[in-house]
Amino acid sequence: MMAEKKQGKSLGCLGFSGAFEGGQYQLPVLPYGFDALAPLYEERTLRIHHDKHHAAYVNGINATLAKLAAARSAGDFDAVTALSRNLAFHGSGHVMHCLFWNSMTPGGAEVPEPLAAAMKDSFGSPEACKKHFAAATKAVEGGGWGVLAYEPIGGKVVILQSEKHQDLTIWGAVPLLVCDVWEHAYYLQYANDRASWVDNFLKLANWGFAAKRLEAATAS
Ligand code: MN
Repeated sequence: MMAEKKQGKSLGCLGFSGAFEGGQYQLPVLPYGFDALAPLYEERTLRIHHDKHHAAYVNGINATLAKLAAARSAGDFDAVTALSRNLAFHGSGHVMHCLFWNSMTPGGAEVPEPLAAAMKDSFGSPEACKKHFAAATKAVEGGGWGVLAYEPIGGKVVILQSEKHQDLTIWGAVPLLVCDVWEHAYYLQYANDRASWVDNFLKLANWGFAAKRLEAATAS
């Protein structure tokens, strides 16, 4: 419900118009006609990609969230790993395709400010950024994505390779509360009893911090 109220207000919603409505993730309409990118990206390819492949991710995230709700109701988390994987897979697929459609425009475009200045700062020049982006994207092992991203801690524009697209996360998701289950975090005290560590972590959890992060994430 909150997602609906805040939709379009925050930076994180740019490019996701029509991606979530009526309490469900939705297949957004393309920001141009199916034939608008031809001949560089031809109509049949674009239509199947959008209508079939992107739609499958949308159906997948809605179905997975329904299965997770059923699991919570039943108190049966036997399938939580598989369902979490599906949530990340379909959720990231939905996010990345929304961004992908908006990452192209008929006829292409020049790099405007302030992006050009950011590229100069991080890569030397927009041309160097484009070369780096092309090299990284061509070299993705298997299926995946080339990603131009803003890294907010250093305030830098960076280029990432994403193999597949999920890696058990959803691109654009903002962490609110995290629990470390690398062995270094608990093994000295809990040895192999990760479950006790997680139960005790939850007794220590700072929900006030999580609430502040949520407030910041949903602010304009
Ligand atoms: Mn695709």
